[in-house]
Amino acid sequence: MALLDLRPNCECCDADLPPEAADAFICSYECTFCRRCAEGVLQGHCPNCLGNLVPRPIRPPAGPVGGLAKHPASKKRVNAAGPCTRPDPTNATLVFEG
Ligand SMILES: [Zn+2]
Ligand SMILES: [Zn+2]
Repeated sequence: MALLDLRPNCECCDADLPPEAADAFICSYECTFCRRCAEGVLQGHCPNCLGNLVPRPIRPPAGPVGGLAKHPASKKRVNAAGPCTRPDPTNATLVFEG
């Protein structure tokens, strides 16, 4: 079973995003951002892959398939290499309007 990587922080501003955070956003590659960055500087698009950002689902603490007790959240913090900026509009045009 492929598991969603529940990353512990925003890749832009390094804000903590625990697995129960309701304001975490991810792209299809699991790049993770806080709401402030996702809706602010990033304008709803991942700066790495240019894909759209959606609210991250919350994995329950436990349950029929194990939840966080069996499949804990990632502890590996991921940070952007440089300052986070709005996705390049040149590339975005290619992706979204091509
Ligand atoms: Zn952030
Ligand atoms: Zn991405």
